[in-house]
Amino acid sequence: MNEKKCALITGGSRGIGRAICLRLAEEGYTIVFNYRSGEEAAAETVELCKKLGAEALAVQADVSRAEDCDRLIRSAVEFAGTPDVLVNNAGITRDGIAMRMKDEDFDAVIDTNLKGTFYMMRGVARLMLKKKQGRIINMSSIVGVRGNAGQLNYSASKAGIIGMTKSMAKELASRHINVNAIAPGFVDTDMTGELSESQAEAILAQVPLREMARPEDIAGVVAFLAGKDSRYITGQVICVDGGMGI
Ligand code: NAP
Repeated sequence: MNEKKCALITGGSRGIGRAICLRLAEEGYTIVFNYRSGEEAAAETVELCKKLGAEALAVQADVSRAEDCDRLIRSAVEFAGTPDVLVNNAGITRDGIAMRMKDEDFDAVIDTNLKGTFYMMRGVARLMLKKKQGRIINMSSIVGVRGNAGQLNYSASKAGIIGMTKSMAKELASRHINVNAIAPGFVDTDMTGELSESQAEAILAQVPLREMARPEDIAGVVAFLAGKDSRYITGQVICVDGGMGI
């Protein structure tokens, strides 16, 4: 069994999730992460973690399926023992205005972003309870705090994550398990790469710091919430948004 601390990260193949894997690898964690379909990108994340001296395992698992989440958690435990840190990062968008939104687009976003986070927290919290320690970090969004036209499904999922974070923080606090959320603003990844130039410009105009976040900006806050300096912080939503939420 591995003596090092273990971090389990969902959606670690690219974007913010990959930056989190690499940052926690640098901090000395053994890394287990999943991906849905990007096998090559996942293999690249594993290689990058190994170059940083960390052991790393990629598992194909769809977080919208409870049985996949349970299998992912079992794989993590076999590879590195009970996770010390769980980062629920995997997420998708299916944008469109509410009046034209299809049921399947609403359901897909809720199933991945909200139910996926629930399945992972439920499974990992059971293990962390036995160890009487752990950190859970959920990826919300500034859109979950403020809402956004064209993202009713996504904002509902991300606001739901904030509610679940606070409830879970209250349920687990007596066992020294801290549960927090991060609400990123506009981060330079494939997810925002889908926006047109004019859409991106319109969003940047709302960002007081006048630039997009880098995935590493979010990963740094994850490292803080995973580490000892955040011992007395639980149930909080940390906005990493260049001031968008002001
Ligand atoms: P991204 O570049 O699109 O990457 C998404 C990651 O999630 C990929 O690793 C993907 O795996 C995985 N994933 C998606 N659906 C999955 C599923 N059903 N099961 C398992 N894994 C799944 O996204 P990102 O921009 O890094 O965003 C990461 C998180 O931050 C998301 O929760 C997002 O909502 C949140 N966020 C992003 C921004 C932003 O501006 N980018 C802002 C606020 C919040 P595959 O590669 O295999 O598909």
